[in-house]
Amino acid sequence: MGECVLVTGGAGYVGAHACKALAKAGFQPVVFDNLATGWAEAVKWGPLVQADLMDRAAIDRALADYRPVAVMHFAALSLVGESMKDPGLYWRVNVGGALNLAEACVAAGVKNFVFSSTCATYGDQDGVMLTEDTAQHPINAYGGSKLAIEHILRDYSAAHGLNHVIFRYFNVAGADPEGEIGEQHRPETHLIPLMLEAVAGTRPALTVFGTDYPTPDGTCVRDYVHVSDLAAAHVLGLRRLLAGQGNGVFCLGSGRGFSVREVIDASRAVTNREVPVVIGARRPGDAAALVSSSTLAITDLGWEPQRSTLRQMIGDAWAWAQKPGYSR
Ligand code: UDP
Repeated sequence: MGECVLVTGGAGYVGAHACKALAKAGFQPVVFDNLATGWAEAVKWGPLVQADLMDRAAIDRALADYRPVAVMHFAALSLVGESMKDPGLYWRVNVGGALNLAEACVAAGVKNFVFSSTCATYGDQDGVMLTEDTAQHPINAYGGSKLAIEHILRDYSAAHGLNHVIFRYFNVAGADPEGEIGEQHRPETHLIPLMLEAVAGTRPALTVFGTDYPTPDGTCVRDYVHVSDLAAAHVLGLRRLLAGQGNGVFCLGSGRGFSVREVIDASRAVTNREVPVVIGARRPGDAAALVSSSTLAITDLGWEPQRSTLRQMIGDAWAWAQKPGYSR
């Protein structure tokens, strides 16, 4: 068996794809997840420790039992809208959980920490191509909580030698091309799965959140990246840490933004069906445009996105949407 990696949130959408990539790369993923939003059925490549990051003793036990060479920290609340309604929840769960995990790593002598951060740490930057050096000014509590964790990791590296690779994700989409795992949230709030539910007729229509943004067609622009490409980047980040190459911060996107209307148009081409659409109001906390330059991940980590075209991502999500999905 390969070296162990503790994957918090490994029963969730991105975490499960990372577990698959880790296993393929010869590592042994151990999932730490409270199953609040994750799925036991998505844990296929190693054991599941069902526990909460608020339970420091449970983290200590997992680190003692499995002696991982690194942790990958995915577990978090991640909904912009919810974070605007209940910011305290986001600060408590996201920052509290990450702090417990970082402290447990220091206590147990785990030196490597791979962290899921987000483009929501940047806030609204008015059409700027975002890089790792762009100043971060989050406009919602979700982004604020993730930025706070980035700061915690910076301080823990300086004070305690806890090395980190931070990935700032743009909009994750698609599903495992082999169809073993995919995106399923309860409730679903993300654009592509909701759009495909509307196409399939399990939801009456997709509501477009605002058409009066300062973008070419008035709808929000996002940079979509395939979940399998994202997972592959995590293995590269882990290898970088294990090779002793030190801390790193990397944006993960496709380098190209698409508006909500463009996503809808692309879906028509993939599914050959119309998307029933209703125009709605803006969603509080949404930035007009978030687009990444992922040059550093490509040049420095050797990341090679394979499936991050809009057509491929919608195609893989559509194939997953035809399956029964997780039931528990
Ligand atoms: N969006 C939308 N209708 C929906 C869900 C999302 O118009 O039912 C828009 C949303 O305003 C944003 C984009 O689609 O501009 C992507 O939203 P999502 O929630 O998928 O990801 P986020 O950008 O919040 O991480």
